[in-house]
Amino acid sequence: MRWGLIGASTIAAEHMIGAIRASGGQIETVLSSSTDRAASYAATHAIGRGVTDLDAAMDGVDAVYISTTNEKHFPQAMAAIAAGKHVLCEKPLAMGVADAVTMVRAAKAADVTFATNHHLRNAGSHLAIRDAIRAGRIGDVLSIRVFHAVHLPPHLQGWRIDNPAAGGGVIPDITVHDADTVRFHLDEDPVDVVAIKTTSGLGRGVEDSAMSVWSMPSGAMVQSHESFTHPFAGSGIECHGTKGSIFARGVMTQQPVGEVVLRTEAGEEALSYALHGLYDRALDLFAKACAGQGRPSADGADGVKSLAVAMAVATAAETGRRVAVDYGGI
Ligand code: NDP
Repeated sequence: MRWGLIGASTIAAEHMIGAIRASGGQIETVLSSSTDRAASYAATHAIGRGVTDLDAAMDGVDAVYISTTNEKHFPQAMAAIAAGKHVLCEKPLAMGVADAVTMVRAAKAADVTFATNHHLRNAGSHLAIRDAIRAGRIGDVLSIRVFHAVHLPPHLQGWRIDNPAAGGGVIPDITVHDADTVRFHLDEDPVDVVAIKTTSGLGRGVEDSAMSVWSMPSGAMVQSHESFTHPFAGSGIECHGTKGSIFARGVMTQQPVGEVVLRTEAGEEALSYALHGLYDRALDLFAKACAGQGRPSADGADGVKSLAVAMAVATAAETGRRVAVDYGGI
């Protein structure tokens, strides 16, 4: 498959260029807003053409990977869909649920594959957790606790911490991933949420930390914590049920690492899992879906729903109210 990169981004450089190539894809173009940056990024990553025009970036490609700042995802995805390209779009899909729904419906009408780059559900650790829950190993799920308070590395301390217009803030950045992960594990979508947010050292004009509680249709409760300012907290997810608990530590990350332990009446058991690259699996499934086989690991509806949860958390934190999640009809 021939690819165009929409956005000369860090995530593409650090993870996605390698994953696209590992899936057999060829990267033909990269789009940047700056001529110099387009040229230097193309040269550094051995990409044929570095361009500043979106049409030129889409010329001669089958699919685009959109990893610009968040406010650009909607117009760029709509242009790519109109041009008949398959789209792998970064999270959050858009600045609001209505735009995200429009993107997903447009892709369906144009009969192109549309996916959201939620990486965590591709991790062997999370696949093992989901398998254990589905196999009934913890019984009925009572609650989930997500701890995803990290320290934002200095090279990412740009628009994320000071630019609300570009989609900055920890809620669009990390809460949206946690929403996708919990939806993946429980196979259901949060009903409503309460939340608080704060700035604790990094955020200027946007929150750098948030805590929220979500109610699930099954009656399970979810507690979620995201931050950019916690150097030593470590990440993880705990799933507690009537017959057991799963303790997964170090698994809310981009690498295939961490430990997953199941505790039941019988004692503790470490769950083994596959160590493939998270983005490699996402790209593999995306390429297959474009060829008419199967579906992407996180499709457009997953992107909309995970964004909807994050938006509800943002509104609840802003207003102090309990907020029903509005999935925009998806
Ligand atoms: P970056 O800040 O690296 O890139 C975003 C844009 O910023 C680029 O498109 C580029 O604009 C510009 N830019 C990047 N580096 C420079 C630079 N040195 N000088 C000037 N401009 C620069 O963002 P990320 O890669 O961290 O994030 C991009 C998107 O990917 C976001 O939507 C984010 O939410 C998502 N993301 C997803 C992850 C996942 O695991 N799914 C992980 C990380 C990010 P231009 O193209 O015009 O040159």
